[in-house]
Amino acid sequence: MLEHSTPPAADPASNGQAVPRCDCESTERLFARHGVRCTRQRRLVYESLCSCRTHPTAEEIFQLVQPAVDRVSLATVYNSLEVLCGVGLVQKIPMSNGCCRFDADTSTHMHIRFRDTAEIVDVPDELEVGDRIMELLPKEMLREIERRFGVRVDGVSIQLLARRRKPG
Ligand SMILES: [Zn+2]
Repeated sequence: MLEHSTPPAADPASNGQAVPRCDCESTERLFARHGVRCTRQRRLVYESLCSCRTHPTAEEIFQLVQPAVDRVSLATVYNSLEVLCGVGLVQKIPMSNGCCRFDADTSTHMHIRFRDTAEIVDVPDELEVGDRIMELLPKEMLREIERRFGVRVDGVSIQLLARRRKPG
């Protein structure tokens, strides 16, 4: 479930620029609740990730936090992201090229990945794409999977692949 407030609806004017997203609980308290020690670096990594909608790579987050921290290495950014992913505060999005992108929105939501730019954007929740796809999946296929793996399937995670249409 959501660990922090639902992100506000996408603002087309923001164009991926910083928009505060996790403002209902302090980062310190959130980390404490997840058993994560709140170091300055971890906090900056997390708050930088919360403040952008672009699903950045570790290198991009490194660029974001670098001006704010005197001594931060890319390895520290990677380590912080691993810790935050481990406790479920950050979601890792593996890409087909082996690189990963990161998302501070850990709610179940769908992404569109642009083939040409590797950019990732959120599909708005109100489209309920995940629920609608679940309803369309053949029930006997789901039952077969549940039987074979001894599990209960309760969601679907799909990345839509797209190319931007040329204007005109
Ligand atoms: Zn996302």
